[in-house]
Amino acid sequence: MDFREHIRVIADFPKEGISYKDITTLLKNGEMYRAAIDAMVEKISPWQPEVIVGPEARGFLLGAPVAYALGIGFVPVRKPGKLPAKTISETYALEYGFDTLEVHADAINPGERVVVVDDLLATGGTMLATANLMKKIGADMLGMGFLIELTFLNGREKLAEFPVFSLVEY
Ligand code: 5GP
Repeated sequence: MDFREHIRVIADFPKEGISYKDITTLLKNGEMYRAAIDAMVEKISPWQPEVIVGPEARGFLLGAPVAYALGIGFVPVRKPGKLPAKTISETYALEYGFDTLEVHADAINPGERVVVVDDLLATGGTMLATANLMKKIGADMLGMGFLIELTFLNGREKLAEFPVFSLVEY
């Protein structure tokens, strides 16, 4: 399956100099969407996770169907103020300023086997913050999977302590 053919590349979005990888064109294609989920499931299944975690918002689009296919639970990681019950949070640095991610404090049991799924690995900041959140909550982080990896940004270096896979590299 050549997923790349179905990923639309938009120049200068959201700002000049960024070559944005638009996955909506892949998601719209039922055969491709299913193939992408199947490919992720094939890689994640041997890790034998008990929970899939997905960061808002595109992590939901890939993580939830992976969890469904494996017959395990899905836990959302969200932007601040979205989750209704008690949360734990992790703040991380962006190019300009800071961002925060939250998860329900009771969403994952200590030692629970977790895999995180997101659409794209760029600098690795989002995934590192998610991994730190998982550490705080006491999860057993088995690894992380991405549809797309921008290898020139070296996000993998930040995630060196974890097994990481991606389906398409740019
Ligand atoms: P990072 O934290 O690794 O620098 O950026 C990854 C996060 O930003 C992911 O959650 C991803 O959804 C989003 N992101 C950054 N660049 C792109 C892009 O070109 N396409 C898409 N679909 N998401 C992106």
